[in-house]
Amino acid sequence: MMKTKQFKAESKKLLDLMINSIYTNKEIFLRELISNASDAIDKLYYKSLTDENVKLNHKDFEITIKLDKDNRTLTISDNGIGMTDTELEDNLGTIAKSGSQVFKETADKKKGIDIIGQFGVGFYSAFMVSDEVKVCSRAYGSDKAYTWTSTGIDGYNITESSKETHGTDIILKIKENTEDEDYDKYLEEYTIKSLVKKYSDYITYPIKMTTHHEHYNEDEKKNEVHEEVETLNSMIPIWKKNKNSVKEEDYDNFYCEKFSDYEKAMCTIHINAEGLVSYKGLLFIPNHAPYDYYTKEYEKGLQLYSNGVLITDKCKELLPDYYSFVKGVIDTPDLELNISRETLQQTRVLKTIAKNVESKIKKELETMLNEDREKYEQFFNNFGIQLKYGIYNSYGMNKDKLQDLLLFYSSKEKKMVTLKEYVSRLSEDDKNIYYITGETVDKIDMMPQVEQFKDKDIEVLYLTSYFDEFVFQVLNEYEGKKFVNVSSDKAVLEDDTKLEEMNKDAKDMFSLMKESLTDIADIRFTSRLKNHPVCLTTEGELSTNMEKTINLMPDTEKVNAKLVLEINKNHPIVNKLKELYASDKDELKEYAKVLYAQARLIEGLSIENPTELSNMICNILSK
Ligand code: ADP
Repeated sequence: MMKTKQFKAESKKLLDLMINSIYTNKEIFLRELISNASDAIDKLYYKSLTDENVKLNHKDFEITIKLDKDNRTLTISDNGIGMTDTELEDNLGTIAKSGSQVFKETADKKKGIDIIGQFGVGFYSAFMVSDEVKVCSRAYGSDKAYTWTSTGIDGYNITESSKETHGTDIILKIKENTEDEDYDKYLEEYTIKSLVKKYSDYITYPIKMTTHHEHYNEDEKKNEVHEEVETLNSMIPIWKKNKNSVKEEDYDNFYCEKFSDYEKAMCTIHINAEGLVSYKGLLFIPNHAPYDYYTKEYEKGLQLYSNGVLITDKCKELLPDYYSFVKGVIDTPDLELNISRETLQQTRVLKTIAKNVESKIKKELETMLNEDREKYEQFFNNFGIQLKYGIYNSYGMNKDKLQDLLLFYSSKEKKMVTLKEYVSRLSEDDKNIYYITGETVDKIDMMPQVEQFKDKDIEVLYLTSYFDEFVFQVLNEYEGKKFVNVSSDKAVLEDDTKLEEMNKDAKDMFSLMKESLTDIADIRFTSRLKNHPVCLTTEGELSTNMEKTINLMPDTEKVNAKLVLEINKNHPIVNKLKELYASDKDELKEYAKVLYAQARLIEGLSIENPTELSNMICNILSK
């Protein structure tokens, strides 16, 4: 008896999902298997381009589909590169390596649908419609063939078999119909034809099937069945088609299949460029960030084709980092097919295309920003940070390209606005763009520093991403207006000579208060507060938000913002402090500590000794 081998653990889970089909869209199994067949042919075709011993032409390749209703089998064959016995074992005994790790981590937590969509499970989807799957394969250059057989979760076995030509036959034993599911349809020519049209039309190799048509024979006065080998796909890649002849649904299907996304893209850009360099392209902005987008594993790039034949899967030279979320394909006749990766990087052709692609993406985003703000905000939520990094990482060099694509929350409009919109509401005399940072819009809105700006009806940008302020630092100004942090010493709305005097008079009192506050640069009275007693501001370039952020980064020297404790000059606490300065200097120091702690809490900073603070407050309360 032959020993049955077990699937790897994560494959087992995936198979279980497939067999018990949480996924309702079972028909995609066909596109997955055809896509594998096409990949296998691609591999052999490459070989023929680079290896003199392989004498094959593009037109020698094909994929065939065979239906056998009596035996309930559907067979998909290709004459591609094939697999050896070890390859059968490695490739089909375990799921695609790229997804498996993440799959292991998420499989238990999430429902199957997301997972299936995100990782493009490929081959195993065959089990959604089959009781048994056989893979009979002969590797190119080998005279031995092997058959891999599995009925699902129990495992698989591999036996030596025979096959006349190189390539692979995938033989599916289609399930019997159930109450909720019609499997018979996968044995119908009509279904297969329409599925190929729907999902695999652009495949560059012919997908052939023997079809049967009934004819009425006038002479014999009876119906006759006519047999013919039909090519089911047009083989014209979707990007080569005329824009007007492509339906939105076609773009969506293409995108989901090609880039393994369970959700259609938010935007599709179809390019047909002619000129110094000609190319056709199809770009997509995903509707959500890929699961690995914010990890090191994520690789940006567009698929690059030369006249319909794939050159490289991820050509990173075609996309700037700040648009790394864009997916798509570029096809140009102006590149040699067997161009090496090294020369690829330097070609003028690629540089020209990249520049053009970038401007197309920008234009698309601008249009969305102007015409569909809601959609743009969704885009910005997903990928806005990437645009900000683009400005920051280039030390502002890319600012002209990106700054008008940024959105920030406006205190006045109560929604996200662009810098252009903010500046359009300023008068010539207004020199500043005001902003403040904090955890959430609501929290920021309660901060004491904001009060006078609201009173004076001055618009403030509420920055809730820790990173925004760094972007403003790099931008420095926008259309001649400076970025000013509301919590900085530069955000003084009016000169107040009386205040200066008041501060001078209290100099000694402040010195004494400072003795109990080690980490503070200054204490002063302020006119920037209306009802609140205290706030924390900073002197110089470094804000508390920046201090927090920089100090969180590994391997950086710790920095300290120059903190200033500001006390509302009109608050009753002022008299109390003056009173204590005259009567009880120790108590004054306690008060200083309490006020400072309050200011820190409002700013969202931690306090060193909460117990001490709590005791001090209780002492004061008990008096
Ligand atoms: P993916 O295609 O995403 O890598 P699959 O589970 O669909 O994952 O397939 C696993 C592997 O099995 C493929 O990467 C390929 O190496 C191999 N394979 C699948 N189908 C074929 C085929 N028809 N011919 C040759 N190899 C194949």
